[in-house]
Amino acid sequence: MKKNIAVVRGDGIGVEIIEEALKLLKTVAKIYKHDFSFNEVLAGGCAIDKTGQCLPDESLRICKESDSVLLGAVGGFKWDNEVSTNRPEQALLRIRKELGLFANIRPAFLFPMLKNASPLKAEILEQGIDLIIVRELTGGVYFGEHKTKKIENELVASDDMTYKESEIRRIAKVAFDIAKNRKKELISVDKANVLDSSRLWRKISEEVAKEYKDVKLSHMYVDNAAMQLCARPSQFDVILTENMFGDILSDEASIITGSIGVIPSASLNETKQGLYEPIHGSAPDIAGQNKANPIATILSVAMMLRLSFELEKEAKAIEDAVQKTLNQGFRTADIMDKDSTLLTCSQMGDEIIKNLS
Ligand code: NAD
Repeated sequence: MKKNIAVVRGDGIGVEIIEEALKLLKTVAKIYKHDFSFNEVLAGGCAIDKTGQCLPDESLRICKESDSVLLGAVGGFKWDNEVSTNRPEQALLRIRKELGLFANIRPAFLFPMLKNASPLKAEILEQGIDLIIVRELTGGVYFGEHKTKKIENELVASDDMTYKESEIRRIAKVAFDIAKNRKKELISVDKANVLDSSRLWRKISEEVAKEYKDVKLSHMYVDNAAMQLCARPSQFDVILTENMFGDILSDEASIITGSIGVIPSASLNETKQGLYEPIHGSAPDIAGQNKANPIATILSVAMMLRLSFELEKEAKAIEDAVQKTLNQGFRTADIMDKDSTLLTCSQMGDEIIKNLS
């Protein structure tokens, strides 16, 4: 299979973790006889330094023309004083917007050997955590009108939360398709007791459910979902939710699994072109020290092969290699425990590659 991948190393540890992801992808291409080409593009703080723009037009063009985008992380203290429209993080938001990446897919799973890193009690973790949050990414309150006005001598701010039927329907279908291939259970999270946009969300998800008779749809209010994620995470398999609720719940879901360094993510558009990235940021505190955990990026590569390129066997081989490497007791500093062997970022990449077969 021939695929063009746009690669954004970005800033901080983005440079190091993407190096490991590229080493791995080149090995996968060799073993399974694929032709992957990599187009490295500038975005984020490094792009500001070189061109003045957080996302040069050429970078955006290459991302748009690629089959998928692989991204490390952007941002860092150095660019904290940039104007808000040219901060490194804007590059990411623009790529999402320009590529129409409306479906954010964030798995949260507990590697049994990393359970000591989770803040949850052992008896809760015994039930396991293996869930996927499907978050709408281009609508809702983050994209509504934001206003601050002076009314009767005081400031009044408002943020508009709008959803169209079509936006709800297309993200619901993504969630049902994922649920159909897992436990066939989908929990839609909303605030339908208060918000009109949530009542529409519920109505449309019920309509879509009629097309997926084998998937059981249930609904949960977002405040309860936040509680249940900590109290009994094992009850969730696939969660469907809107943009802001998904933003908050997916961070909560990642922390209960223990380490930010192992959780991948995908953001897809209607053509299955995707942006794949770890959920963590550029970690300026450890950047350039070969200490970062590359596993979240490597698992993002597995998601890219599965979701955008339909290479299930290759995706599974990467996930198995990660699992095997952790089982062998290899750890980066963020997930290190007293009985394990400490590796650098590049050593962890090498060990995972050795376990690919
Ligand atoms: P962060 O995720 O970069 O770091 C939080 C903590 O987790 C740090 O202690 C860091 O060392 C650690 N950490 C993160 N990833 C790790 C890894 N792979 N291995 C080991 N340890 C890891 O979050 P932050 O410190 O709030 O943000 C730093 C910068 O990253 C900011 O400029 C922020 O805007 C940016 N950011 C970018 C993205 C993105 O590019 N998608 C996402 C979040 C934050």
